[in-house]
Amino acid sequence: MSGSRLALRLGILARLADVGSLATSAPQVGERAAAVLRRNDADHPLVWLLEVADGRLQQVSTADPQARHSAAAHAVGVAALGSLTHVVHRVDDGIAELHAVPVIEPGQEAASLVLVLGTSQILAGDAGFEDYLQVASGIIGAGLSGQRDLAKERQRSESLRELDQAKSAFLADLSHELRTPIALVFGPLQDVLANPDAEYSVTRGRLLMIRDNVARLNRMVDAMLDFSRMEAGRISPQLVGLDLAALLRSLAAAFAPAFERSDVRFDVVIGEEPMDVVSDRDIVERIVLNLLSNALKYTLAGRVSLELRAADGWFEIEVADTGIGIPVKDHERVFARFERLPRPEQSRSTEGAGIGLAMVAELTALLGGTVGLRSAPGRGSTFTVRMPVLAVAGGDGEAITPRGVDAFLADIRRWERPVELHRLPGRPRLLIAEDSPDMARYLAESLGSDYEIELVADGLAALAAARARRPDAVLSDVMMPGLDGIALVSEIRADPSLRDLPVLLLSARAGGEDTASGLEHGADDYVAKPFSLTDLKARLASNIVRSADRSMDAGWRRAVLEAIAEAMIIADETGAVTELNEAFTRMLGWRLEDGPFTMPYPWWPDPQQYPEERAAIEEAHTNVLEAGQIAGEYLLQHRDGRFVWASYLGGVVEDRHGRVAVLKTLRDSTREHQARSRRRAVARVSADFASADQLDQLVASAVYGLRHLFEGEVVVQFGSGDAVHLFDATGPVGPDQVPGPVLALLNAGEPSGEAEIPEGGRPVERLLLAPQGGAGATRACVAFARPRVVGPDEQIVADMLAQSLALAVDRVLAAGEFADRQANLERAMESHRLIGQAVGILVERHRLTSDQAFAALRRASQDRNIRLRILAQRVIDTGLDPAEA
Ligand code: ADP
Repeated sequence: MSGSRLALRLGILARLADVGSLATSAPQVGERAAAVLRRNDADHPLVWLLEVADGRLQQVSTADPQARHSAAAHAVGVAALGSLTHVVHRVDDGIAELHAVPVIEPGQEAASLVLVLGTSQILAGDAGFEDYLQVASGIIGAGLSGQRDLAKERQRSESLRELDQAKSAFLADLSHELRTPIALVFGPLQDVLANPDAEYSVTRGRLLMIRDNVARLNRMVDAMLDFSRMEAGRISPQLVGLDLAALLRSLAAAFAPAFERSDVRFDVVIGEEPMDVVSDRDIVERIVLNLLSNALKYTLAGRVSLELRAADGWFEIEVADTGIGIPVKDHERVFARFERLPRPEQSRSTEGAGIGLAMVAELTALLGGTVGLRSAPGRGSTFTVRMPVLAVAGGDGEAITPRGVDAFLADIRRWERPVELHRLPGRPRLLIAEDSPDMARYLAESLGSDYEIELVADGLAALAAARARRPDAVLSDVMMPGLDGIALVSEIRADPSLRDLPVLLLSARAGGEDTASGLEHGADDYVAKPFSLTDLKARLASNIVRSADRSMDAGWRRAVLEAIAEAMIIADETGAVTELNEAFTRMLGWRLEDGPFTMPYPWWPDPQQYPEERAAIEEAHTNVLEAGQIAGEYLLQHRDGRFVWASYLGGVVEDRHGRVAVLKTLRDSTREHQARSRRRAVARVSADFASADQLDQLVASAVYGLRHLFEGEVVVQFGSGDAVHLFDATGPVGPDQVPGPVLALLNAGEPSGEAEIPEGGRPVERLLLAPQGGAGATRACVAFARPRVVGPDEQIVADMLAQSLALAVDRVLAAGEFADRQANLERAMESHRLIGQAVGILVERHRLTSDQAFAALRRASQDRNIRLRILAQRVIDTGLDPAEA
């Protein structure tokens, strides 16, 4: 064998050794190993790694590229699997030999895989190849087994982790369960100590509460101790001979009154004759009492039955109820250790650490029996405990702590006892949501002298009660079935009629996390159990006062706001609008109920359409906190789409709780704004007329300026002798291109009756601008898109402009380049055509109005000292901006 071949084989073996640790599953070990082996096609161009399942070799897929030899490979593989040795088979047809070796994992007898290789030459006599093959199969076997160990290890740590999590959750729950009775010892104790002069009957009530809760704590601790001893395997059955029928009958008799008081029918089906068994009395009793008390707890109405049956060395105790039932998916979980189910909403009590049924299952197993469950939601539950008549003694552990009927009944009585509420109308109303009846009772009793109390047992009921009649404050437990305390706060904050209601959360979890979450969701305060009553009372009172303050502030603010005639709006420091008044609604159409409004507000103008106006108002608002004020006129948009100019005055104010708000008043300044911009436009147009020294410039100023000013299509007429010339925004036009009524009005020579202003203003379609006395042919007509009223101020402006236009025309014609007025006019017509064209191009390409386009042309003409018509020609030729053309 050549050295290079040896090196190749050693390289393959080295790579195979990595396969086990790289693969994440057993099949992947096989795949990866086959891929590594295929690299050695000098020795063996064909590679199969065939799985063994139930002692049989996997078939070779016919889709295999090596399919031609697969039947033979399978046969050799089967032979190797049978003999558990290396088998060689001669073939021809391009392949010299098929070698099969079983892959056996360390410590195993049988093969997990069979490795089959097809060689290109006769290698059977090559001892090196034989070794290579054996070592390869050994490495793959080790890889497989390592992979399996790893997977097992992973699984074990996974289930340990799960158990660990379940345990932590269980402990958290348990501490919650413990805190309620502790709070009910601690609170009353503080009370008694703080009120040495209280009447004895009051003190006695407190002491009884303390006694009951200490007893309950004691029972809980016993149950937990039993459970942990059970877990540690330290409990063994203490077997005695007993009459099971008599035992169950006595338990049933003790329980019957509880069922009766709860209006649940209780059927006991136990024969008259004794049933002698050898078992552990305390254990059987514990099992039955657990099942009975669960049946009562989860059956609000209907029937519960207890039945004892004997069968062939076994007995069966069946506890059936018609209560809420348990979904099939939870059947295993109710018996599992440390498993919690969501607390059922319809139960007589929400207490319980969830170890009762786990205990039942383990105790039954201890006596050699099993527990069965048949149940479906709404259809009730049937628990069947099946145990041998002769239990087998086992272990020398301890007995469980007997927990008599009384202990169970004491707990049941606590669920039953109604809370007495002394109605004290006229006091502030306090809604208490608390699922633990003891805690509810304590709170109601302790706070009853200060508040008119309403008591509910869960979040949904609390929400309904608050909506039905708004209390002054809510005191809620955090952990409740259905809607918990934190969800309740969120619901209250989301309800406009309740959102400023003070809510105090009461929780067993003192951990910071819950506190933070409660406050984050809008609770006003958070009290951890156990709490001192004095502290709770103080917090309740201060929250109610604060909230009254708040609503008084709010009431005042509303009243003042509405009394103000100007539009007014208040936002918090983030810009969220908290108030706006009716005047604002009149001005912009939006009401507070249409909100919530945050920046950008819907009344700001569209940034695409009005980028500058939008930027201006946005900047004012973004800087208001630093600048301390907003002052200026901004463009706004009414809800119906129309634009409104508003003059703003705003400032940052701080209320007495230190909250910052931005208060703005708005005055509708649309008319002023229009008047101002009209005045500016009039001034500009007259200045244009006065400064024009070319006729073309004058014509264009008239056409575009008047168009902008009066918002209509403009036709300007100039006359010289008989020749009259007409211009519109497109350039010079013939009389036939001018609408008839416009032409008629121009020809009439004087402001027609149409433009005279009747009292109150009649809408007109056109406005004539003609110089006083109708002298000369220079005049202009504005045709409105829609008839409109022309106000007296507009009429004055029109007359004034008509006058200055006529004067300017005379002046320019007289001073023109040609001595002949007519020649001047003709030249002007020609340039105006060019200007009209250039304006058209600018309007189209640069998205300007014709007025803006002409202004740009004129500005460029002045700045660059180029005659208008030459510039216009350049714009027409190049399409460029006039500043660059
Ligand atoms: P818990 O202290 O919560 O009552 P258990 O171990 O006794 O603990 O019961 C576990 C869960 O099984 C209960 O929380 C309840 O959801 C369900 N459960 C037990 N008994 C019944 C029953 N008779 N009907 C309906 N649900 C039941």
